[in-house]
Formats: sequence, C-alpha cells, structure tokens
Amino acid sequence: SVGIEHEGFVDRPQDLTDEMYAASARLTAGICARYDIPLDREHIIGHVQVPGTDHTDPGPHWDWDRYMKLVRRAATSAPSGGPTSGPSGGPS
Ligand SMILES: [Zn+2]
Repeated sequence: SVGIEHEGFVDRPQDLTDEMYAASARLTAGICARYDIPLDREHIIGHVQVPGTDHTDPGPHWDWDRYMKLVRRAATSAPSGGPTSGPSGGPS
C-alpha cells in the first residue's frame, strides 16, 4: 500500500481546504497511474478503513464523492508516462 497523510484534524472541517483536495487528488492520481491501481473506493481507502488501524482519518468531514471526482479528473488530464510539458492546447 501507499499512504498519504493530510495536514489537519478530523474534527476541524476548515482544515480540509480546496487546495488540499486538489493536491491530494493529483498525488493519488499520479500514484495510481504509476502502479496501475484502479481508481475506485475498493483501492483508494481512508486510513480509518485499513484493517487493524487505530486511525480515524480522514474523518466524517471528508467528502469522498468530491475527492474521487477530483482524482478521476486529475487522472484523465494528467499526461501518461514520464514527465512532459504541461497541459496541451491554448494559444502560445
Ligand atoms: Zn492517517
């Protein structure tokens, strides 16, 4: 498994910022692409769901629907393979 910890506390919803969701989703999408991990809730789970854990994160305020949408969006917009230039398109 690959673990990602977020800064903040489970009982402080204000800690779960838009920037955190976006950055975490990009990180998860990249890791899943690299290791061929399916983008679903069977494979992307909360620390609280890990068997035997005593952790409660990401907690009741974490919006999994929102997060998984961001992960899937990041996965489809991210270039596949190694490092490349940024998003294509647009005037230059
Ligand atoms: Zn944790």
